Amino acid sequence: MFDELEVTGRVRTHVVQYDAPRFAAHPDAAAAFLRLRAAAARDGIELRPYSSFRGYDAQARIWAAKYGGRATLYDMAGQPRDRRGMSEDDVIWHILDWSALPGASRHQWGSEIDVVDGAVMPPGYKPQLLPSEVADGGLFAPLHRWLDAHIHAHGFFRPYARFKGGMFPEPWHLSYAPVSMRAIDDLTLDVLRRATEASDLPGKARVLELLPGILERHVRNIVPPPADCAW
Ligand SMILES: [Zn+2]
Repeated sequence: MFDELEVTGRVRTHVVQYDAPRFAAHPDAAAAFLRLRAAAARDGIELRPYSSFRGYDAQARIWAAKYGGRATLYDMAGQPRDRRGMSEDDVIWHILDWSALPGASRHQWGSEIDVVDGAVMPPGYKPQLLPSEVADGGLFAPLHRWLDAHIHAHGFFRPYARFKGGMFPEPWHLSYAPVSMRAIDDLTLDVLRRATEASDLPGKARVLELLPGILERHVRNIVPPPADCAW
């Protein structure tokens, strides 16, 4: 379905760009998202794409900032981690708690959209995409109760609905199963290794050694689409 450059986000030939709302996604995922968004609007929710397609270079900038200490590493509760005394492996695994390895991000497929509710954000509000926003009493808690009830009928599911030893829970991260469940099979260890070898990622030598474990823990062990999610 995806070629090697597409599945690692090094080209964007598999996505289309929209301006209102502004997002980029695979055409099938985009069409389904716009239907989901229309359904949400009928219930007073402005389902807004906060992050959608991200290519390899964008993910590499996130990686480099976290690896180099210019961006914060967070624990599962969204609290900043103290980096003192961390080994390189600690840094790598703690980056991977919240951020995918470049080449291995689901956002590269065009099937994934992180969402917020534009109708409840105060002017100038910057979404954090942290657990407190989604928990009971959080700004986006009503959005998430609505998503609970509606996303599966539109082909979306939450691959990071709960912690399974890899990525931390990201309830705001929606995945369009008809595209992503095929893309995940295209991202083989060989494909990911070639993309990493071709990169100038900080920590590359150690990442290459850890690659099979990263693929197992952080790419393959998602929470799969439930039975009522058609794909
Ligand atoms: Zn996401």
